[in-house]
Amino acid sequence: MAELHVTLLSCPSCGSPLDGLRRDAVFTCSSCRLALHIREGQVSRHPLRFAPAVSGNVGDIVRLPLWRMELDVASPVDEWSGRRIAWVSGFYQTRVLFFGDPGMDLTERGVEFLEVEEIPAGARLLGVACGPDEAVETARLLITQAIDRRRDVTGMEISIAAVGIELWAVPFVHDAEGGKLEEPNIEKAYSTLLVEDLVEILAGGDGAGQIR
Ligand SMILES: [Zn+2]
Repeated sequence: MAELHVTLLSCPSCGSPLDGLRRDAVFTCSSCRLALHIREGQVSRHPLRFAPAVSGNVGDIVRLPLWRMELDVASPVDEWSGRRIAWVSGFYQTRVLFFGDPGMDLTERGVEFLEVEEIPAGARLLGVACGPDEAVETARLLITQAIDRRRDVTGMEISIAAVGIELWAVPFVHDAEGGKLEEPNIEKAYSTLLVEDLVEILAGGDGAGQIR
């Protein structure tokens, strides 16, 4: 019979309870701008950054987690070599092929955010289901596929190394009636069904308990 462990998580820097949903892989402290990935008792720390909300939009702001990383790519296709920025959605995504992928869209548009200096009161980041290692693997796969679409790379060496990885809270405008989440920087709207934990994220989570 499996043992059930409940661990209450608090921020190692300030001691406040960490934000997260029950099945999250990463827990965050907004005031310390810290993201903690917890796996098999090992903790890794990553910077947590907040992207600015674009004003003038109607609707509530929902912050969704996206990993930003710098990748050093060495490939036989020149335009896909060198240092690149990649974004990988950190929330549970459903039916990506159907609903689209904000991480891929931000990557393709080369979007970079300026980090906000003051985090709006009460701004939290929840629903980080994908850890940093998984995000890097996803980015590697997406870039390899993009290169492969340009040229048959069977048997060729493509090396992709991630040199910096940060967790970003990216604001989306939530149109509850229309069932849409809009990313104003790329002017793209996604179905709310894309984000599996949206209801829990909107409800603010269930505190920092983690059951394993
Ligand atoms: Zn803290």
